[in-house]
Amino acid sequence: MKLASCRSCERSFTWSKLYKSLWKLRDVQCEHCQQKHPLSLSTKFRVHSISYLTAILGLFTADKLGLSMLESAIFILLLTLTLSLFYPFIVKWKE
Ligand SMILES: [Zn+2]
Repeated sequence: MKLASCRSCERSFTWSKLYKSLWKLRDVQCEHCQQKHPLSLSTKFRVHSISYLTAILGLFTADKLGLSMLESAIFILLLTLTLSLFYPFIVKWKE
């Protein structure tokens, strides 16, 4: 898996920089050349889709495991946060 890089200077972005931008769904600015990179619509769509699917899957799993409301909420939160660690790897820039 490879992280997205700057289109202008071709330096790779750090995982944390992409991760923070994805949570805010904001443009990513290169620290070296200051070029701004808007996230593609497909990246935003994938992030939302994966989050919703994770929540739904988590709900079913929590129900099957017979977890309480609080335990289910914690389980879904942890599941969503764990999967979100991979979001920086699916970043694509708007054309
Ligand atoms: Zn750059």
